[in-house]
Amino acid sequence: AGLWRASLEGQEQISDPLRDCPDGKPVNLYIVPMFKDGNPVGALFSVMPHDDFSRHLVMTFWQDEGFSFLIKKDGSVIAPSRRVEAAGIVNYIATLAALPQAGHTLAARVQQALDSGSTAFLQYYSLSGNRYAYLMPVGINDWSLVSVLPAYMTEDHLRSVMLGTGMLGAVQILCILAFIWHINRVQYNASTRLWQQVYVDTLTEGCSYTRFLMKASEQLSELPGRWALMSLDIDNFKLVNSILDQETGNATLLKLYRLLRAWAGRPHELVARHTGDVFVALLPLTGERQLEQRLDELCNQILHTRVDENDSYRLVPSIGICLLPENPLQDSSLETWLDKSTLARRTVKGNHEQLYAFFDESMESIIRYRKNIENDMVSALAREEFEIYYQSKHAASDGRLVGAEALVRWQRNGVQVPPGDFIAEFERNGFIVNLDRYVFLHVCRQIREWRKAGLEPVPVSVNISRLHLYDPGFVERYIRMLDVAEKDRKLLQLEITESVLLENASLIKDTVSRLRAQGVTILIDDFGTGYSAMSMLKEIKVDGVKLDKSFLVGIGSPRTDTLLRSTISMCRSLDMEVTVEGVETAHEVAFLRSLGCDTIQGYYFSRPSPAAVFTAMLQEAQPHD
Ligand code: C2E
Ligand code: MG
Ligand code: MG
Repeated sequence: AGLWRASLEGQEQISDPLRDCPDGKPVNLYIVPMFKDGNPVGALFSVMPHDDFSRHLVMTFWQDEGFSFLIKKDGSVIAPSRRVEAAGIVNYIATLAALPQAGHTLAARVQQALDSGSTAFLQYYSLSGNRYAYLMPVGINDWSLVSVLPAYMTEDHLRSVMLGTGMLGAVQILCILAFIWHINRVQYNASTRLWQQVYVDTLTEGCSYTRFLMKASEQLSELPGRWALMSLDIDNFKLVNSILDQETGNATLLKLYRLLRAWAGRPHELVARHTGDVFVALLPLTGERQLEQRLDELCNQILHTRVDENDSYRLVPSIGICLLPENPLQDSSLETWLDKSTLARRTVKGNHEQLYAFFDESMESIIRYRKNIENDMVSALAREEFEIYYQSKHAASDGRLVGAEALVRWQRNGVQVPPGDFIAEFERNGFIVNLDRYVFLHVCRQIREWRKAGLEPVPVSVNISRLHLYDPGFVERYIRMLDVAEKDRKLLQLEITESVLLENASLIKDTVSRLRAQGVTILIDDFGTGYSAMSMLKEIKVDGVKLDKSFLVGIGSPRTDTLLRSTISMCRSLDMEVTVEGVETAHEVAFLRSLGCDTIQGYYFSRPSPAAVFTAMLQEAQPHD
């Protein structure tokens, strides 16, 4: 509270190391006052990992013989480094007081210097030898910088110069002056770096978020006209770090920053990295249509940004824009507007068809709904609220039951929620991985139950999210799980949605071929909804494709019929089994049969139904002796 008060009185503040709530690692809080007409009107704060802080502030010099560190008014070390710890200093006053020679006098001098905010020069014998120390306030809080140097260093340093000149008597004084000059430089560096940390983003070396907020508030209150605030991030960016490596991840962020900088290079346009892969920008609004064109161009540039040589990851941005009213800071804060652009960004996250959205009030309820889902999902899984429905698959030739697809439903507070309402959200927050495993294990259990009941099982396909495919350990883990839960690998088929192949072909190709080498059947779901499905088939070999129901729209027209006929015959000639989904009429069935389609799934035969209903169908379909 003291820090806040001081910052509201106009002083810049840095906190002592505090424990950060999310991960318990120590952080420092920077608080920078904001002025209007010379009066402080508020404060901005940012949080910095304490490790970064100490790395920049605690330094060694003169071949690592000397080192400096910050202490507080009570003598305790603020940013300990290995060097300081090795010297056994936790509290500098206590360390001095424990010295055998004049320890208490030294400690008292330091205490006095700290109390009065003045400098002090000390010379003492520590266990490791003769030491010089220089203490000076850094002008931030009540902190002082202590620099310690072995005396022999300063002497050796100068002796070579002085020797033979008859000035050896002056060595002592000169080396002290040199030392003080050096310490001043260290102190200068320390405080410049400190402020750099507040104003410069360490990764991009561009404007920091704190600086962005300051400049943006300034411009919004001082310059006339309309503005747009933008928030941007990359879908599943953390995968770049995990699939490739941290270094590539950082290089990619730098590339993105530069790209954004070049894109938003007009007067008064500001760009900064917020955290991780989130960037923000402030743009003078010249026209909505014009802004849309610029956004299209930006998305295009990002989609074509290469992450590495092999193009193993495709960058897909999500962008939210908030168009600000005149005098935006009159009734709302800058953060409120930024939150709105973030909200708009979240509505398009994971949506690869729409890469940006403009904020409107209705988005608040969407986000609230998603938040509710997120709050409930973990307990819902534990309470087994997710139920697996089965939709039958039939041979096109004679309508025989040949398999099923497992489709999940959420029985939430007595209401059945369709997957369309929660799968996308679970993909965004990663929970889909748990849900898919749950579905998988339940299907295995169901197959065992069919066997126990004397029924011959049919293969069941499960949908697996793109997130699994990015996980390098997925194949091994999946095979292990399969070996325990169901020995017959052909009974569990995996459906992978087509769009994932377009995102990262080389990575998925590897995962798919490793799964197939282990005897797992892979089906491409929603085939034909992407824009380069055919070319992808050259790259990746799979067992079958499921044609999306959109293929059936317009059946009877020559163009639709030709497209369907040639797609089916092409897939079949590539040795892939063809399933058509969403088949609702006898007419469609007859037509598909005539085209040589293998399998049909759709309401015509059955809707997705609870396990008991499907089990009855399976019973019915058992071969009679
Ligand atoms: P999908 O895998 O393409 O599933 C087919 C969808 O089409 C299902 O919707 C199904 O109910 C619907 N459908 C089937 N026959 C017909 C028909 O004749 N007419 C019409 N209009 N629709 C039909 P559903 O069950 O709502 O699932 C939607 C999507 O949710 C699925 O698309 C799948 O991508 C995803 N999904 C469902 N369960 C899971 C799961 O356990 N894990 C994952 N990762 N995704 C799942
Ligand atoms: Mg499916
Ligand atoms: Mg499908």
